[in-house]
Amino acid sequence: MQAAILKAPRDFIIEERAVPEIDPDEILIQTQVCGICTSELDMWEGKAAGLQFPLFIGHEVVGVVKKIGAKVSEFKEGDHVAVWTFGKGYAEHVAVKEEYAVKLSKATSFDQALGEPIACAVNGVRKANVQLNDSVCLVGCGFMGLIMLQIFKTAGAGMIIAVDTRESILALAKKLGTTHALHPKQVDVKQAVKDLTGGKGVDIGVEAAGIQETLDLTADLVRMEGKLEVFGFHQGGPRKVNWGYWNWMAFQIINGHVRSPRLYVEGMRIGLGLLEAKKLNMELLITHRFPLQEVNHGFEIAASKPENFVKGVITF
Ligand SMILES: [Zn+2]
Repeated sequence: MQAAILKAPRDFIIEERAVPEIDPDEILIQTQVCGICTSELDMWEGKAAGLQFPLFIGHEVVGVVKKIGAKVSEFKEGDHVAVWTFGKGYAEHVAVKEEYAVKLSKATSFDQALGEPIACAVNGVRKANVQLNDSVCLVGCGFMGLIMLQIFKTAGAGMIIAVDTRESILALAKKLGTTHALHPKQVDVKQAVKDLTGGKGVDIGVEAAGIQETLDLTADLVRMEGKLEVFGFHQGGPRKVNWGYWNWMAFQIINGHVRSPRLYVEGMRIGLGLLEAKKLNMELLITHRFPLQEVNHGFEIAASKPENFVKGVITF
């Protein structure tokens, strides 16, 4: 089978590899799509600490069951599945434990059913424990933010404010049901949120870009005793927070991440259910598709995030 192996920074090479053997509790997937994840960009650029090349990455796999292990009971050959995997996803075949796969309806398109990022967004929203009519501000509204926006809406949020520096993202956020869209270079976001919330700030502020600026801005937008959720994937050096202020404001601080496989799979099941119930629009979010041979180009685009880019996937 063909697999894309990251041999050195910015240098995937397509290699011929053996199709993986499966254990009795595993299924073999014929990959149809593997999403390019922001969390992989630091590896691709060689910036993440302690990297040892070559790397065999890719974890947002959707495909068709080709073979099942002797103990597998939930799946059969030909089933469509989204899976949670620890890498090895940029390949024509992937082996995963049955318990890490979620079955899809045959009507669901492969490139929309990216179970892993959908699960992260679902779990981020569940951790915020949104109440009916809570006001929510999403600071950084890229691919993950745009999924969260829709799930917050479904979960009963009232006012939803999207903050982003790209016009195309704000336009999409409006299409997907945000009540307000703010561009930090065009408006004073802090003042605008104050005006929208009667001077108090939002009930829930979600930092979803993973940089110092968005962390600072989010803390400026949350009301006293409100929830401040750090959802962004913070890579690189340590961040600084104004702890005295955070303390005084009595924020409920939430780490938006989960790590246990059980919660990942649960989030996948919920999110893919919402997708199939048409409560989650992924069609507008998958903006770029690249064949495996163009994986380096795909990563370049994902890293440079041109206007109109939301999410890129590798197709097989
Ligand atoms: Zn991912």
